[in-house]
Amino acid sequence: MDMPYINECAVDMCSYNVGSACHALAITVGDPPHAQCDTYFITSFKGGDPASTGQVGACKMTDCRHNSRLECRARGIAVGPGREAADCLTYSPR
Ligand code: SF4
Ligand code: SF4
Repeated sequence: MDMPYINECAVDMCSYNVGSACHALAITVGDPPHAQCDTYFITSFKGGDPASTGQVGACKMTDCRHNSRLECRARGIAVGPGREAADCLTYSPR
């Protein structure tokens, strides 16, 4: 099973974000009932691997149609501000 890529993340203030791209090797989504990026973090420097594009390592949103066995099976996801500062915008309740 391949991990889906984060095609876009509009949360520029996150420490893993450079140029609207996520550079965390793998994020976790969800703190049910809300599909937020649980890896979202702000500190005084940028982290992650600048040469890598972030992927979804795990997702706790079992009610999303893209979720199977606590993993994301979407072709890719987008993250951005929603109800919270950093939400999975690809979240789609069954
Ligand atoms: S997907 Fe999450 S960890 Fe990655 S840059 Fe966006 S808010 Fe930060
Ligand atoms: S699309 Fe659904 S399964 Fe994939 S990360 Fe977002 S909420 Fe989780």
